[in-house]
Amino acid sequence: MVKIERTTAPPASLEIQKKLKYGSYSEPDVLRQLKVDFHGKCYLCELGPLSDVEVEHLRPHYGRKRKELVFDWNNLFYSCRHCNSMKKSSRYDDHILDCCIVDPEKRLEHRYVDGHVHISAITEDVDTQLTAELIESCFENTNTGVREIGCQTRINDLAGTMNTLYFSLAKYQKGKKARYFHSLRNQLSRGSKFAAFKRFYVRSHIADYPELESLLN
Ligand SMILES: [Zn+2]
Repeated sequence: MVKIERTTAPPASLEIQKKLKYGSYSEPDVLRQLKVDFHGKCYLCELGPLSDVEVEHLRPHYGRKRKELVFDWNNLFYSCRHCNSMKKSSRYDDHILDCCIVDPEKRLEHRYVDGHVHISAITEDVDTQLTAELIESCFENTNTGVREIGCQTRINDLAGTMNTLYFSLAKYQKGKKARYFHSLRNQLSRGSKFAAFKRFYVRSHIADYPELESLLN
């Protein structure tokens, strides 16, 4: 999970739809703006581009009982179906970090080690602890057949992404600095898929690549 800069102005349909009895919070203008703001990635697992997009309510509305949250632009998040289903557990209600407000990289460590994902909370507050647990479960919770395939897909994609990063870092260190600096700038941008994992890896090995510090800002 990385920091997202959300467009301030809500898409126009939200104001219109919230006045209707069965209004929709997922009109095309909402999806289009979420896709741009979230770089086409799921805000939880950071897989992208997505083919199974869902509009996720960060704070649940309980079947529209909390009506003010249904059409609140700041409560709508770009998510994949797999992660949206993981978040449905009531233990996460009102506890997941808002990545449009706080910088998750200052709260969470994203590790990929030996084919597994480990998310650790840096701070001790409940919201950070539960956000770490939820993100890890998006890669590791294989308690149903569908979830097992969803997790494996994400782990495989993450493994390939990390291998590309390791390859580029090795080339960069062997002297092809100009060429690979450009590639690393793209790979380490917050908009790239699995950015939190790549940025954490480089941040924790920064002594080997001190010039790359500027790419982590
Ligand atoms: Zn996801």
